[in-house]
Amino acid sequence: MGPRRNPAPPPPLRPAVTRSEAPVPAVGPLRLRLPRCLLDPGLVGVPVQRGQGRDGLVALDLEHRGGWITALRPLPATDQPLPLGLPPLVEPHAHLDKCFTQGRWPNPSGTIPEALAQNHREGRERSRDQVLARAERALEQAWRQGLRAIRSHIDSGGPGARPSWEALLALRERWAGRVELQLVALVPLAHWTTPEGEALARWVADRGGLLGGVLGPPDGSGRRDREALRALLALAERLGVAVDLHIDEADVAPARGVRLLLAELERQPHAVPITCSHAASLGLLSEQRLALLAERLAAAAVSVVALPLTNLWLLGRRPESTPLLRVQTPLRSLQRAGVRVAVGADNVQDPWYPGGDFDPLEVLRLAPLTSHLDPALREGLAPFTTEPARMLGLAWDGVVRVGAPADLLLLAADSWGELLARSPQRRVLRAGHWLPPPPAQLPSPLFAASMG
Ligand SMILES: [Zn+2]
Repeated sequence: MGPRRNPAPPPPLRPAVTRSEAPVPAVGPLRLRLPRCLLDPGLVGVPVQRGQGRDGLVALDLEHRGGWITALRPLPATDQPLPLGLPPLVEPHAHLDKCFTQGRWPNPSGTIPEALAQNHREGRERSRDQVLARAERALEQAWRQGLRAIRSHIDSGGPGARPSWEALLALRERWAGRVELQLVALVPLAHWTTPEGEALARWVADRGGLLGGVLGPPDGSGRRDREALRALLALAERLGVAVDLHIDEADVAPARGVRLLLAELERQPHAVPITCSHAASLGLLSEQRLALLAERLAAAAVSVVALPLTNLWLLGRRPESTPLLRVQTPLRSLQRAGVRVAVGADNVQDPWYPGGDFDPLEVLRLAPLTSHLDPALREGLAPFTTEPARMLGLAWDGVVRVGAPADLLLLAADSWGELLARSPQRRVLRAGHWLPPPPAQLPSPLFAASMG
């Protein structure tokens, strides 16, 4: 996609909320429990928290005014049930251009080749109105369910590229202040070696986007891949834009893409932020090799986004067999080496993954199962809160302190155990106002239909 000379104005967008659904002010202080690791460290010395050591939750009164937190007061030790609060979460990796397409473009085999083929067919027919409609639906869901920012990759190499970018740039503006959007140009890596690729990079840079691409099996070992990666990194450096790669989303050739990337970064130091999304095949390395690679990633300041749901869905598929070895990002080893790690949901109801609903709580609740991440511990919560906030360079790091936004995801759960037992009801506070509940919490019209 090249630069446009005469961009047509985007079609009018429908309001995200109707008058009756408008956020309502939250009056008075809130009483809740917050994870100690997400609280202003200056408050932690107060010796009154229930569960210190057990689950790290601190009971407190939170006051707010004008959309900002004005006071945080720890409560005396109490067994009174209180809701669990989190800062609204951050989605570091999504595909808003193709979400909700699996009905028309299904992938019954659940394989990567069929996902790719369906993705290409859908991309050839893609229109701006289609992307507007599905991304608007996604953002509405995300906002009401407690997401405050999303980084989305956009297919940027075919006929669907221009309509997708037009729609998502319009929505980025429309949703600013509710869900911050970051947009990444996703193309085959070799595209960055062409004049069209260079024009695309400039166009994306002018609009505050990021550069992306795919690196890893079946590609990632030849001279052409190295040249393509070199071209991408040089463009990013020259234009001052961050890079977010789909890398090593594979169950063969462990870390082939990451090794190539590290070799380039060690040869030519870089200043722009670089993120590796997936990095799943690193999980197939021996412990010793992984430890060395993790140290190199940390030294090169490369961040990693783990996407356990799509990896578990797509990787290791063999006809007529159950995958006994599950391939996924070795989160804990990377964290131990000091690599910044976030967890995302990736695809939602498209040919790559039929599930998902832009519900960050669902990914957080599944992480103990998919990745043995414990939400009661700092390293279990940071990948959903502070780490993606820093990775995306958001103005607020997600730490709850006086002067932070009066933004909360409040859960009808009094402990981590209750959060894991069932998906709890929730209320979302943004700038001191309660948002309308997500559609999933309203009575389903399907039951009304069953009554005839
Ligand atoms: Zn992706």
